Amino acid sequence: MRPLIAGNWKMHGTLREAASLAEAVRAGAAGLSVDLLVCPPFPYIHLVAAAMLGQPMAVGAQDCHAAAKGAHTGDISAPMLRDVGATHVILGHSERRADHGETDAAVRAKAEAALAVGLVPVVCVGETEAQRLAGEAEAVVRRQLAESLPDSFAGIIAYEPVWAIGTGRTPTEADIAAIHATIREALVARFGASGQATRILYGGSMKPGNAKAILALPHVDGGLVGGASLVAADFLAIAQAA
Ligand code: PGA
Repeated sequence: MRPLIAGNWKMHGTLREAASLAEAVRAGAAGLSVDLLVCPPFPYIHLVAAAMLGQPMAVGAQDCHAAAKGAHTGDISAPMLRDVGATHVILGHSERRADHGETDAAVRAKAEAALAVGLVPVVCVGETEAQRLAGEAEAVVRRQLAESLPDSFAGIIAYEPVWAIGTGRTPTEADIAAIHATIREALVARFGASGQATRILYGGSMKPGNAKAILALPHVDGGLVGGASLVAADFLAIAQAA
C-alpha cells in the first residue's frame, strides 16, 4: 500500500505562515513516493487548497459538522469543506473528543456526512494512558472502531494513543504493531476486502528520528503528524522515511 503522510496543523500559524509552509511542502514533495495530505485550520484551507491545485498533495480539514447545513452557529459543514477544496477531513481526534465531548456516535455521524459529499474521513482512535495501564488499549480501540465507523466506510483510520500526542513519548514498536494488527483484523471482519485496503496511520509524537522504524511496522500505512508537520523539513523527512 502506498503510504500516506498527513500533517495535522491543529490551531497553529497565521495566514502568511500557512501559505509559506504549504509552499515549502509542495516544493519538497517532488519525487516522493508517498501520498501527502496537509490539514490546516479552517480559515486557511481555501488558500492552501488553491496553492496545491494540480499538485499531488491533498488538503483536508480537522473536523466537520454532521449536518449539511442549518442553524449551527460557528460550525462548518462537509459540503463547505468540499467547496473550498478540501478532499479529506480528520474526525474524532482525541483533542476534539476531549475539548468538545465528541462521542463515537457523533464521530460516526460526521463520517457519514463526509462520505455523503465525497470527502475522505480520517477517523482517529486511541486509548488514554490510564486505559493502556489497565490493559484496555485493544478493547478501547475495538469499541471506538465499532461505534465510530459507518457501515459503509471508505476512509482512513489513524491510531493515536492519547498519551503519545504532543508528549514526545511513543508506544514500543511491538505495541504499535499489536494495535495496528487488531485494527486490521477488526476492519477485515467488518468490511472484508475493503478493510484489507484501508490505510491505518500511526499518530503521536512521530518525528524524523522515529518515523522510519514506525512506518516499517506491519499494517502501519502512514502517519498522522502534529508538531513535526509545522516544520516543512521535518514533515518532508518523515515522508522520505516512509
Ligand atoms: P503530535 O500530534 O505529532 O504532535 O504528537 C499528532 C496528532 O495529534 O495528530
